[in-house]
Amino acid sequence: MKLNVCERAANIDFLINVPVLKGHCQTKITCALKNMKGLIPNTEKRHFHAMGLHEPIAHLNAGLHQDFVVVDNICGDLDFEDGGNPVVMNRIWAGTDPVLIDSYVCQIMHYTTKDVPYIELAEKLGVGSTDLKNSHIVYCEENARKELPKSRKVVELQDAVEEVESCSACYGYLIPALEMLKNDGLFEKLDTKICIGQGYRGKTGKLGVGACTCKFEHNVKGCPPTENQIYDFLKQYILGENK
Ligand code: SF4
Repeated sequence: MKLNVCERAANIDFLINVPVLKGHCQTKITCALKNMKGLIPNTEKRHFHAMGLHEPIAHLNAGLHQDFVVVDNICGDLDFEDGGNPVVMNRIWAGTDPVLIDSYVCQIMHYTTKDVPYIELAEKLGVGSTDLKNSHIVYCEENARKELPKSRKVVELQDAVEEVESCSACYGYLIPALEMLKNDGLFEKLDTKICIGQGYRGKTGKLGVGACTCKFEHNVKGCPPTENQIYDFLKQYILGENK
């Protein structure tokens, strides 16, 4: 797989990765492996999504080696990568195997590595190991062992969405907009799935978010549209003002 990375990233002698542990509305978790996306140019980011996200994340990590990982688990949001609902844990972890670290993140967030396909793909490419049973983890204090609370707000909201190759920004704005509709008691009144993503370019349908669904009957304009634009449009749609 051919990927564009920032020139400077390709010439680093010793790479220290400092991800924030968070939930992610597309990949469920984001930590050591996905944080490496920060080393690709913005133009490549849309390409990543068009390629399905998981495969390119795994291949990026096969091409760019991280030497040391310091995970910030101080107060990440377990649902939305943009934050807003911090869960205070006040802890930092360190390690050298990003696959093992992300496997551990899955475990304490009540997922398996099967739920986050790029982790096992990276293992197959030789980036690291998912074998937590045979790993050596040192806890400096009891609090460090604590599991994170199980949070599945996003999974419920995702049921209303048909996503094909969506950019993180677009999808990342849609999910909190749906959460706002849920808080208003309107989410349950949606009468159709919401389509989003580059895979809808040139296609027709009923309700779509972003410029990629501009041929749809009802469309939220923008690339990406903001959270408030999506919320306002969908609210009007549900109340019958955009139908
Ligand atoms: S409309 Fe959304 S999914 Fe389409 S290219 Fe723009 S940001 Fe990406």
